[in-house]
Amino acid sequence: NTPVRDRLRIAIQKSGRLAEPARALLASCGLSWRESRDRLFCYGESLPIDLLLVRDDDIPGLIADGVCDLGIVGRNVLLEQDGGRSGNGRPSVYREWRALGFGGCRLALAVPDSWDWQGPEQLAGKRIATSYPALLSRWLEEQGIAADVVLLSGSVEIAPRLGQAEAICDLVSSGATLTANQLKPVMTLLESEAVLAGPSTEFDPVRGELADLLLRRLDGALRIRH
Ligand code: ATP
Ligand code: ZN
Repeated sequence: NTPVRDRLRIAIQKSGRLAEPARALLASCGLSWRESRDRLFCYGESLPIDLLLVRDDDIPGLIADGVCDLGIVGRNVLLEQDGGRSGNGRPSVYREWRALGFGGCRLALAVPDSWDWQGPEQLAGKRIATSYPALLSRWLEEQGIAADVVLLSGSVEIAPRLGQAEAICDLVSSGATLTANQLKPVMTLLESEAVLAGPSTEFDPVRGELADLLLRRLDGALRIRH
């Protein structure tokens, strides 16, 4: 039961790759804010649209719980958490509203340089380290491959050198991190970028009107950028 609010609240990353571009994009839509002293909250001044500054991983949950109305987050995070939800038999409560054209990367499967890559069958019986267990498990299932998914929250690329796994599934942009760890990308599981995420249900009229206004300005800003 969501309390009625007459302001729109958008969750964005507090610090990290998406933090600055997300704020810049929203500023280009004519939004301006006054930031709270603890840097958690930005109060919208030009429009009743506020920002909540959080860890990117928390954004899908904040939308699902109705704490925030919209969020700017990597498609990788959104789909990973969505997969988790449908895996638990819960319906998906948010969806991708717009692709935003920054934060581009891909979720890739990488194996040691020394492997002579023949195809996914080679992963059968192997351990694959990842921070994206839902997306990796679903892909393995689609490929009909039984492999062990080793869940790591960070530094996935060093797992093969540590003997924790034979292969990894991780985000890649330039590929330099893989190369530095004697790994090579062999398959792309997902093309990702920052997206505007919102609920799959409709807002009440007040926030609905604010969201429509924001989307119109956003579409204008995105057209100018491309
Ligand atoms: P937080 O402290 O908010 O949890 P984080 O360390 O999880 O931060 P970042 O490393 O800032 O997150 O990455 C945020 C998003 O940027 C990723 O989820 C992804 O969508 C995108 N991204 C783009 N390029 C890369 C890359 N090379 N490696 C990781 N993420 C990337
Ligand atoms: Zn994160």
